[in-house]
Amino acid sequence: MSVLLTQFDPESVVRKAYEFAEMAHKDELRESGEPYFIHCVKVAETVYEWKLDQSSIAAALLHDTVEDTSITNKDIANYFGNEIAFLVEGLTKLETIQYPEKKETTEIENLRRFIISFAKDLRVVLIKLADRLHNMQTISHLSKERRDRLAWETAEIYAPLAYRLGMQKLSGELEDLAFPHIDPEGHAWLMNAVTESYKDRIRYTERVRPMILKHLVKNDIKPITVDARAKRYSSLYKKLLRYEMDLEKIYDLVAFRIIVDTIEECYAVLGVVHKLWAPLPGRIKDYIARPKPNGYRSIHTTVFCVDKKIIEIQIRTQEMHEEAEMGIAAHWAYQQIRNETKKKALWKGVKNKGELTWIEQLSNWQKHFTEPEAFMRALKTDFFKERIFVITPHNDIIDLPVGATPVDFAYRIHTDVGHQCIGAKINKKIVPIDYELKSGDIVEIITQKGKKPSEDWLRFVKTESARDHIKSALRVKSRLFRTKAEPELMEFKIVNQDGPGFLKEVTTVFGDLRINILYLQSQTDHRKAFSIVTIRTEVLPEAKIEKVLLKLRKIPNTKEVTYKTER
Ligand code: MN
Repeated sequence: MSVLLTQFDPESVVRKAYEFAEMAHKDELRESGEPYFIHCVKVAETVYEWKLDQSSIAAALLHDTVEDTSITNKDIANYFGNEIAFLVEGLTKLETIQYPEKKETTEIENLRRFIISFAKDLRVVLIKLADRLHNMQTISHLSKERRDRLAWETAEIYAPLAYRLGMQKLSGELEDLAFPHIDPEGHAWLMNAVTESYKDRIRYTERVRPMILKHLVKNDIKPITVDARAKRYSSLYKKLLRYEMDLEKIYDLVAFRIIVDTIEECYAVLGVVHKLWAPLPGRIKDYIARPKPNGYRSIHTTVFCVDKKIIEIQIRTQEMHEEAEMGIAAHWAYQQIRNETKKKALWKGVKNKGELTWIEQLSNWQKHFTEPEAFMRALKTDFFKERIFVITPHNDIIDLPVGATPVDFAYRIHTDVGHQCIGAKINKKIVPIDYELKSGDIVEIITQKGKKPSEDWLRFVKTESARDHIKSALRVKSRLFRTKAEPELMEFKIVNQDGPGFLKEVTTVFGDLRINILYLQSQTDHRKAFSIVTIRTEVLPEAKIEKVLLKLRKIPNTKEVTYKTER
């Protein structure tokens, strides 16, 4: 019987949702032939295990009702109220996202963020992850095409997303489930290469474990647990790829995890372990002093253990352990039993700018809650408030600050698109150029050849890069439209088959000859085969022009150098 029936009384919203979903999916079967409702229960049980609130568990039970049955979101709102309806709506919407075939890393990263922002509430993302976990666990019943698709999305989007949220265990589980579908040969090879020694490794850990325990006790340390852990296949395989597929070079095939009460004890355990077995130089990693970007804390060391076998030992507190396994979900659970001073250290040391802004933002709002309810409120994606995500006509997702306009978008696409922007269509409708973009808008820029940016734009653009581009274009424009009394300009054009450092070499030529560059633009042609650099300077004497041309032509891979006098 489901834990949901034993843990929640019949009057609870969870039990009501249970009955409602059971009715709604009554006649539906999954590809495996099982009643569809079993899937809903599994997802809800996972959400329950993660200790999310009752609204989340109810929403998990209901997550496929609107999509698959005749029930509408209004029905959900009527029966269960706005909060649960909001969560279910978020989950239904996430189903509609079209995932790209194959994308650049940055675009995938944007897509992950987009999912979060689109979901509006982090609970939606967590329920989605639980849904994805069960889909992956039951993937064998699907067609090959759908298996491949699901596995790809899981490996590229959902496992990293879980990792970012600090849910390492889930992330690893998702990766392992996707692995055989993403790379069947690699997976088969690994299974064959590793299983042979698997039993030996178990026997080995059985010999080592009592030794660790004995020495800890002798030093007055009472560990909470000492576990041997097997390395995840997907992460092992990734590591092997970096080590010439040589299993001998992998040191953490056998790893122990020692969990103790306090941070002081963590370091004490490290001392005991190092006295017992010599550490490998350079392999002690103190993620307590310097947590990983996703908040992970632990001490790792690699030692020459019994029979000179190299093993890894991980040392952490119970709290760190739960955070490592459960991430953001653990926080809420912890909140109920610990006072707030204990968690202070968690986000310290999270510094890696840019890439990790989510985590930093999480850490900021984390300071504000002391109650579980406050945390649930915080789970609303307030921390994404300052970013929006819009879509290009080619379905690329562009990440911009709140308040950004079509001009910001245009400059993000390309400098020339920015300069030549005369209008925009949002979701196919024409809007003013200072229109405030919203998440999910499909943005198309209308351009006109030869158009120059206007000073007025500086009034409303939100991104620094747009501001810079506009300003530098205005500077050139003001030079170009000077009165006759002022000197004219010269323009050099250099076409290069894109050798490395080309732009730098060009500017060095001018710098060495003490010529001021008044305007500089670098472009690539449509096939990206050539780089074209345009440079404008004051009018130079004949002799100096000769020198410039000579030096520019000497730059490797240069195809063409031309110049003219501009008016
Ligand atoms: Mn589902």
